[in-house]
Amino acid sequence: MIQAASAIINGKAVSGDGPEVALLNPTTEEKLTGFAEAGADLVDQAAQAARAAFRDGRWRNKSVEERQKVLRRIADALEARTDELAEIETSNTGIPITQTRGRHVGRAAHNFRFFADYIGQTAGQLYDQAPEHLTFVRRQPVGVAALIAPWNAPIALGSMKIAAAIAFGNSCVMKPSEIAPLSIQRIVEIIHEAGLPEGVVNLVNGRGATTGDALVRHPETNVVSFTGGTVTGRTILATAGSLLKPGVMELGGKSANIIFDSADYERALDGALLGIFTNNGQQCLAGSRILVQKSIADRFIEEFVARAQRLKIGSPFDTSTNLGPVITANQRDRVLGFVDIATAGGGKLLTGGRKAPGFEKGYFVEPTVVLAADPRAKVCQEEIFGPFATILTFETPDEAFAIANDSSFGLVSYVWTEDHYLALRAQEELEAGVVWINTPMMRELRAPFSGWKDSGVGAQSGRDCEAFYTNQKTVTMSRHPLNLPKLGK
Ligand code: NAD
Repeated sequence: MIQAASAIINGKAVSGDGPEVALLNPTTEEKLTGFAEAGADLVDQAAQAARAAFRDGRWRNKSVEERQKVLRRIADALEARTDELAEIETSNTGIPITQTRGRHVGRAAHNFRFFADYIGQTAGQLYDQAPEHLTFVRRQPVGVAALIAPWNAPIALGSMKIAAAIAFGNSCVMKPSEIAPLSIQRIVEIIHEAGLPEGVVNLVNGRGATTGDALVRHPETNVVSFTGGTVTGRTILATAGSLLKPGVMELGGKSANIIFDSADYERALDGALLGIFTNNGQQCLAGSRILVQKSIADRFIEEFVARAQRLKIGSPFDTSTNLGPVITANQRDRVLGFVDIATAGGGKLLTGGRKAPGFEKGYFVEPTVVLAADPRAKVCQEEIFGPFATILTFETPDEAFAIANDSSFGLVSYVWTEDHYLALRAQEELEAGVVWINTPMMRELRAPFSGWKDSGVGAQSGRDCEAFYTNQKTVTMSRHPLNLPKLGK
């Protein structure tokens, strides 16, 4: 296991003198490692290092071809270390190794390759309508990006932020979650081994209210890219706004997964299970509110529950495991606390709802399914963030859309139907930044990923990241010597 550092500044691990933060293995509850939190002084050193790297142009002034070469080398290096990174991630988060090894590291490599390709195709605008002037618009990097990541998919989400920020020539300071910082720390080391100049990507480790807040407020950070909870996002955007720093916020969700009776039944059932139980249920985009049409509801619910009961709970290092532990004891207690909330709100517990039996150690939670009585009930409205599915039934498409939209969140929606007119109507009606039709999850980096309502502000995609991580500059030139009024002559 790697040794956690307080920070990586100019490519070197640095120790801080802040309070000790211990990192636990959620499977064994044993201490993995720990670090002294980076305080305001280390945040300042990291931000100054990023600024110095930006100012002297060691990265932003490289040709696009040179930047592409480094980004692709990083992608190759990440792939070459798939096993190592997956093991770190699984130890620190409890996400099954089949998922960290099979998808998360590959996604990280893809993030760097995607932005390498993207920057080879960007273009400015030219306006030549004015007879005497030619105006062109170019984009230049914003400077230093503050990047703040959550614990639920650090490799995939953290790498996206770093790749997007640096591809356009920026420097950055990344702050991973204090609960699961190890994989991102290793990625930052690998990035340097792959040849990125020192100082372009820096890292600080610590808690949100201290290290994270200092990073958002630091005068040398120009923009803030945040992924995490809605309450945190509100705080960060308020701070960033008071300093006139743009922020992109990817926040929580309570996404509706609508199963119409016109669905390919088996595929919809598979998709519904994947939608809520992948990543141990800890996904912003989890299909956590399953809406089933009444005509198929009895059969669907019975089979969904039976399949949930058969999920293999176990060590996330075992390749046959479907469900590992949730991230912390607090998270386990929070998730289980929703059982009482559900029943108090008229819901019926169909399965689960306990610590998984047979595990003396580890934050294992049984796959839990609740049939809710009222779409307004708390269990249908709040993000639970664990292996906890809430099911509701509906009669008509209108009712399904109304229930789906009756939420403060609007991250993604899933729709299962073979009726393409109904699918088209659904994507029209649903209030969500992403609608997945007959697919459990597909992250197309070319297209925006954006939460509506309390699920976010701003978007991420090739174009959205270009807009976010660059400033526009409008340049106007006269086409020929102008006949100017000669004031004072
Ligand atoms: P969190 O909001 O508790 O923490 C996220 C990050 O913000 C951490 O690094 C934390 O240290 C930092 N932070 C906390 N307070 C801060 C402050 N005042 N200033 C600066 N930084 C601060 O979220 P989490 O528990 O780590 O992650 C789970 C949440 O993330 C869920 O709500 C989930 O839906 C959301 N999420 C959203 C997306 C998305 O793309 N929309 C993706 C993954 C996770």
